[in-house]
Amino acid sequence: MEKVILVRYGEIALKGLNKSFFIDMLLKNIKASLKGLNGVKLEKIQGRFIIRVALEDFDRALDLLRKVFGIVSISEAKAFPNDFEQIKRVAVNMMECINEDTTFKVEARRANKGFSLTSMEINNEVGGHLLDNNQYLKVDVKKPEVKLYIEVREKTYMYSSILQGLGGLPVGCSGKGVLMLSGGIDSPVAGYLMAKRGVEIIAVHFHSFPYTSERARDKVIKLTEIMQDYTGPIKLYIVSFTDIQQELLLSCNERYTTLLMRRIMMKIAERIAIAEEAKALISGESLAQVASQTMESLIVTDNAVELPVYRPLIGMDKNEIIDISQKIDTFETSILPYEDCCTVFVPKHPETRPKLEKILIDEQKIDIEHLIQESINTAEIITM
Ligand code: ATP
Ligand code: MG
Repeated sequence: MEKVILVRYGEIALKGLNKSFFIDMLLKNIKASLKGLNGVKLEKIQGRFIIRVALEDFDRALDLLRKVFGIVSISEAKAFPNDFEQIKRVAVNMMECINEDTTFKVEARRANKGFSLTSMEINNEVGGHLLDNNQYLKVDVKKPEVKLYIEVREKTYMYSSILQGLGGLPVGCSGKGVLMLSGGIDSPVAGYLMAKRGVEIIAVHFHSFPYTSERARDKVIKLTEIMQDYTGPIKLYIVSFTDIQQELLLSCNERYTTLLMRRIMMKIAERIAIAEEAKALISGESLAQVASQTMESLIVTDNAVELPVYRPLIGMDKNEIIDISQKIDTFETSILPYEDCCTVFVPKHPETRPKLEKILIDEQKIDIEHLIQESINTAEIITM
């Protein structure tokens, strides 16, 4: 008898997509996620994957799989040949740990029609056998405390718990997006949510050394590492924004500097997206959270680029965003106090209802194209 992991993926999620493309992408991502573990073997069976892994790495594998998008649920199962006597023995064995009154139900599923008993017969026979062999068990078919699942396929798989996965789509099956990753709370969550819909993430971070410290840069690298458990490998561009900010401060109306900065960030991210064949930009903006995120301000930033800007947090409150960042473990790193390039030069009275025409006039006061090229040429690229 073997201990295996049964992986279920969402049939419903397959609607708009080519099924085998989805399954192959998910298999590839699972392989990548379990790469460092011993004895990993993947098997594709109908509607499920069966994963074998060395016993010492079993729990680690369960943890990792719960972070792979596209997986709906997983179970730790016993696998053995389709033999009814053995099914009964294993069932008793699995319920052995129950030593106080507990209600239960057997839920069998005979996918292999060659097996001599129907699902209903397996339920009745195994249920009766358990009652004979464990005095603490009582049947409750409506609301049992424990369910014993038996799947008879080319082998029998037996398990008693189902762990929820994250759902979503396998990363990569929706194409690529460029995430503007600041080091704050919001943008890692935005990247996580788009990866959940199958988007492969390329990240861009703007820093203003020496106004922002080396530690701010390390923080973004750390956030990228944490996100990668969910998103898979992220290519991170670190782009210097110092010259651009200095130019803006020198030449432009102070009220507009944040918006001009944001427009230029978008433009640089778009160039990177085109080079990487990404089809969208992703940002962590949430409507009206700050002056640069009012409807009027978003018109101004959107206007800077042709690619669509995905803002998965647009309708979320800060505490909802924080909940997710705690769940995915980026929160503690995000709240480290190192300066971000946007916070270094915040205008005292930022424009909340900007007029695009005025911003465009101000933007023409600087040699944007030259500055953008310079930043891209000197970008540091980190592949983790
Ligand atoms: P976050 O918590 O993600 O920093 P925020 O609420 O602080 O967001 P802003 O500082 O206005 O909001 O930034 C809005 C969005 O712009 C961020 O979510 C991020 O996508 C992008 N952004 C801001 N600063 C940077 C930066 N230094 N590098 C890359 N992207 C940035
Ligand atoms: Mg920020």
